[in-house]
Amino acid sequence: MGGVRRVRLMIIKPRVRGFICLTAHPAGCAAHVQEQIDYVKSKGVIGNGPRNVLVIGASTGYGLASRITASFGSGARTMGVFFERPPSEKKCATAGWYNSAAFHRAAAAEGLYARSFNGDAFSDEMKVQVVEAIREDIGQVDLVVYSLASPRRQHPRTGETHKSVLKPIGQHYTASTLDTDKGAVSEVTIGPATEQEIADTVAVMGGEDWGFWMEALDEGGVLAPGTTTVAYDYIGPEVTWPVYTNGTMGRAKIDLREAARQIDARLKENGNGRAYVSVNKALVTQASSAIPVVPLYISILYRVMKEKGNHEGTIEQIQRLFATHLYNSREPQLDDKGLIRIDDWEMEPDIQARVKEIWPRVTSENLREITDFDNYQEEFLKLFGFGLPGVDYDQEVDQMVGLDP
Ligand code: NAD
Repeated sequence: MGGVRRVRLMIIKPRVRGFICLTAHPAGCAAHVQEQIDYVKSKGVIGNGPRNVLVIGASTGYGLASRITASFGSGARTMGVFFERPPSEKKCATAGWYNSAAFHRAAAAEGLYARSFNGDAFSDEMKVQVVEAIREDIGQVDLVVYSLASPRRQHPRTGETHKSVLKPIGQHYTASTLDTDKGAVSEVTIGPATEQEIADTVAVMGGEDWGFWMEALDEGGVLAPGTTTVAYDYIGPEVTWPVYTNGTMGRAKIDLREAARQIDARLKENGNGRAYVSVNKALVTQASSAIPVVPLYISILYRVMKEKGNHEGTIEQIQRLFATHLYNSREPQLDDKGLIRIDDWEMEPDIQARVKEIWPRVTSENLREITDFDNYQEEFLKLFGFGLPGVDYDQEVDQMVGLDP
């Protein structure tokens, strides 16, 4: 787990560089996690929910929301895997570390089992370690959530390091994009990916590693009969298709869907389990803020969905996924490609028509007026624990927070 014992009091302020924030606030991250726990609790118990859950990519974004929903919606025991920087004397930890520390404290306060592994989920060593831990502590898992988003993967069998890219395939792509740090709209042209870049992106963000995980868990005898596994996918509006859905990342997602079919067949053979891919809504996360064009789309989308009254964040998305598709005596409703569509509200025709209408009109000057860019920036800072109500950011805070409660 990684206990950090020393105390280092610091005033921590955001230091944003492009689409990342170099600092994170422990008390703010804890408040952000608590907001999500409170939301899940406010929605009531998710009936016949998961009992023992493994979340791969559990410290931020959709994976963290999945862990919170399983624990605080269904009282599940959770194991989480993530790759985060612990705090040191010189540097605060990454947000995912502080989120996980806060999650552990909140789970312990309610007597909920939680154990985390900080390291490379792509490695064989991590898989062996987690299988061992499941066997020792909870016997078997009945839900595996695969929610990794990473720019690179060292392949465990070849040792080769693959880097993912966000590029179109076979064509240049020109579109409006948003510098989220400066609040400036400009035009971006992205050249087509090479065959090697496509293959590398599939190696990082495709389904092979999810398959390796399910294989390791199955061979280790730690999958309960009827296990469910789910991985997350994105499709989005036509305007981003050239750079996302029809680009390198889209290829990776096709591979992820193919992996789901293979895992599903394996699970069905071994005791009636199921593998699903859930297509989720575009939201501000550390991963999505790095995608060209997407932050502009999200700023418009938030505005339009708030106007309609059906805007959701990661926790609302995952709570709805669990409550209306995976558990509560429900069966997942699948589209014609076999995918769960929890992006259904995002993709409603009137929402998309309104986004399309606003899109060409956005300039640096009217950005804050006709889109929800202010909230985009607020949500971005919240990912790092900044701007949370009730947190005094002028107070010193101990940055040496450990994962052990
Ligand atoms: P995120 O950046 O918030 O979370 C990524 C997680 O992966 C973190 O817990 C991180 O620690 C972990 N991680 C990264 N590399 C790792 C490694 N080598 N070993 C162990 N852990 C590692 O990302 P997110 O936006 O929540 O994305 C999760 C999934 O959801 C992705 O498949 C993404 O495509 C999908 N998705 C995202 C959106 C969106 O708008 N953000 C929409 C739909 C689907």
